[in-house]
Amino acid sequence: MPTRLRYLLFLLTILPLLSVAPAPAPEPAELTLGSSLQGRPITAVRFGDGPRKLVVVGDTHGGPEANTYELTNQLIAHFRANPGEIPASVRLYFIPTLNPDGLALGSRFNANGVDLNRNMNTTLDSCPENDWNTVVQGAYGLIAETGGPYADSEVESRIIRSFLLDASGAIFIHSNAGLVFPAFCEHAPSNLMGQVYAEGAGYLYNRFWLKYNITGGMHDWAGSLGIAAITPELITGDLPEFEQNLAGLRAVLVRADDILLPPQERSEHGFAMPEPIWRFWKAYGGEQRFGLPLQQATLEGDLTRQFFSHGVLELRPALADTPALVQPALLGQNSLAAPASPAVNDGSGRFFERTGQLLRGAFLEHWQQADGAQVYGSPLSGELLIISTDGAQRQGQVFERAILTLQDDGGIRPEPLGWQALLAERLRSPDQPFTLR
Ligand SMILES: [Zn+2]
Repeated sequence: MPTRLRYLLFLLTILPLLSVAPAPAPEPAELTLGSSLQGRPITAVRFGDGPRKLVVVGDTHGGPEANTYELTNQLIAHFRANPGEIPASVRLYFIPTLNPDGLALGSRFNANGVDLNRNMNTTLDSCPENDWNTVVQGAYGLIAETGGPYADSEVESRIIRSFLLDASGAIFIHSNAGLVFPAFCEHAPSNLMGQVYAEGAGYLYNRFWLKYNITGGMHDWAGSLGIAAITPELITGDLPEFEQNLAGLRAVLVRADDILLPPQERSEHGFAMPEPIWRFWKAYGGEQRFGLPLQQATLEGDLTRQFFSHGVLELRPALADTPALVQPALLGQNSLAAPASPAVNDGSGRFFERTGQLLRGAFLEHWQQADGAQVYGSPLSGELLIISTDGAQRQGQVFERAILTLQDDGGIRPEPLGWQALLAERLRSPDQPFTLR
């Protein structure tokens, strides 16, 4: 009998069995989220495929807290053996280490000497006490300049910032103070998750970390974006305390529907914004970088788009768990009539092989600080004179997702390409209702 026919017969035999058997739990997925400064992979393991994303972040503080790395790996092994424990509404992720360089080097810090739990942009909430600062109180309250040169400066901070844009909850495990505390600024889901985890684990719960103000902390950053966020501190500095933390996590999973809120709709300037777009807008520079929304988000197939004065943000749920979940549209690229001639790599800046362009000086500095890889894309031209929308000629550079120009005050800002794109679209389909604000 030909193989194909035999295969077909086999399928016909087992199809009735398949249709009555309960759906097996999906296989855990292994993801690479990015690379540390020294090129070590930062990975996650995903269990379940429910709408509520809960992320457990193991070791952030490198070698001195290696027991949290061990704990997270033990939790992964547990859920591999018991995938049925994940509620249908949850997808659960474990990141064994966000700081593989610190873990390899035996250091609390990343390879730049920055404390990753002091580097996040915590100015997004209404509590000034926790705002990012380069001068921080670190382990045991020691004061040091380890917050980084600016907020979200480190590649590892940027990886977690991007990965949590669609999360409902985040658990950042540390050691060793023996207590659980939630985001500093009042956030009910964080408070509830802290209490539930602590009670399950048999750890102390404290509304605050009382010893000093934590600035730039991951739990505070996440809480400010509406993500239920807690920091459990193991009691010891060397044991994984597996049974306690498994019980804490199970207690959270049992209450998942109370603690892990599905994405909410947000509102800015009178326009509703889907939560991942709102979080991206806020976390990557807000009004200063993208301007205000110009209309409601629109859904076209699988793509949700929202126009802002300085760009268009695009949400593609099919690209969840990748940095492309929310991206500014390719407005710079679309504005180029013809490709610019390639640059000579003379070593005076950063050369982009893919686009053959050079980025240097003030434009390079701005691009790096803004997480240009995520927000602006690669340069498509060298520096050139650009006629701004106000008619003035300015030094500028074209990128895939923006055109940047040097302003009279010395600052570098994106041109208002979102306005232009909206007007162009309006000209193509003038029947759409349209409100100018
Ligand atoms: Zn720590």
